[in-house]
Amino acid sequence: MTHTPAPERYTQADGWFRRCGNSGLMLPAISLGCWHNFGDPGTDAAKHDDESSMHHNCRQMLFTAFDLGITHFDLANNYGPPPGSAETRVGRILREDLAPYRDELIISSKAGYRMWPGPYGEFGSRKYLIASCDASLRRLGLDYVDIFYSHRPDPETPLEETMGALDHLVRSGKALYTGISSYDAEFTARALKVCRDNGLIAPIIHQPVYNMLNRWIEDDLVTTCGINGLGIIPFCPLAQGILTNKYLDRIPDDSRAASDEGALQSDSITAGIRTLLKGLDETARQRDQSVAQLALNWVLRDPRITSALIGASRPEQITDCVAATNAPPLTRDEIQAIDRLIAA
Ligand code: NDP
Repeated sequence: MTHTPAPERYTQADGWFRRCGNSGLMLPAISLGCWHNFGDPGTDAAKHDDESSMHHNCRQMLFTAFDLGITHFDLANNYGPPPGSAETRVGRILREDLAPYRDELIISSKAGYRMWPGPYGEFGSRKYLIASCDASLRRLGLDYVDIFYSHRPDPETPLEETMGALDHLVRSGKALYTGISSYDAEFTARALKVCRDNGLIAPIIHQPVYNMLNRWIEDDLVTTCGINGLGIIPFCPLAQGILTNKYLDRIPDDSRAASDEGALQSDSITAGIRTLLKGLDETARQRDQSVAQLALNWVLRDPRITSALIGASRPEQITDCVAATNAPPLTRDEIQAIDRLIAA
């Protein structure tokens, strides 16, 4: 049944929509990714054993997000488990519940990791990227994705070929924009030069991991993206849920760290992490915030960051994350205090 979205979904404070680099595309400050919790039942951290409870939760997450102004849902060919199932599920929800709102939504997908056996099932060849985009469109039931990414750098395939395949996807109408993910600063600069030198339509966005526990993009990548007018959408801004209140004292049964299927191992929650979380919790409380909200304000403190790409296992988490953008920006003193906590 078609979802009736909240009429106030576009009434957020100024600055909710942020320009993606030098492009014409605006993205919400918080975007929602479907890496976990959108696959088949029995496999997600929230432990939905049957399809109807799983599907209900996924619908509610997408509806909550859209109602709050999250217009961007991020996918990849391999999201599930099993690979492909997240696109199939989101495609069903787009078709059954959100079809009238397709023009209000930015749907992205990616190819780079292994999807099928043999030499054409991963990395950055033209053969793989185009076949995989076609398969994603079939699973999603869409004519085009808004953004299609090269999901990871391929050291073997010529960049001319990978960038040429992305250019082809735009020219053939299968993608409106393209992006790159997890390319380092040097590879990013080379990719953009290849596009300039060959008259190719260049990517407009970079998707790297970035959070308080993984600051690798601060060395060079942010500068490279800034200079070249590339937007940045950090993934795992909450470090897969570590940078929230949930692991302060224990590992809850329904958390990603407790799940055998999740990418987060329970031994990542060390004594040092708990000490950091207690410090962050104190800072967050002084701002009337949750730790997740503080972590999102921190990721978004640089205007070159376009959007923070969160995941969620239930709708309330999305509501909590979006409320981060109602808080005042972090002050210089708060940023320095957080730096000291991270360094301790
Ligand atoms: P996050 O770092 O945002 O972690 C999401 C997890 O944090 C949720 O599943 C939930 O954990 C917990 N959480 C979220 N909000 C709250 C809250 N308010 N309070 C308490 N806990 C909360 O991101 P993900 O690791 O899920 O990644 C986000 C997206 O980034 C992916 O869906 C995907 O689209 C993209 N991505 C891209 C990659 C790439 O290579 N380009 C790689 C990985 C991700 P729990 O499940 O325990 O409840």
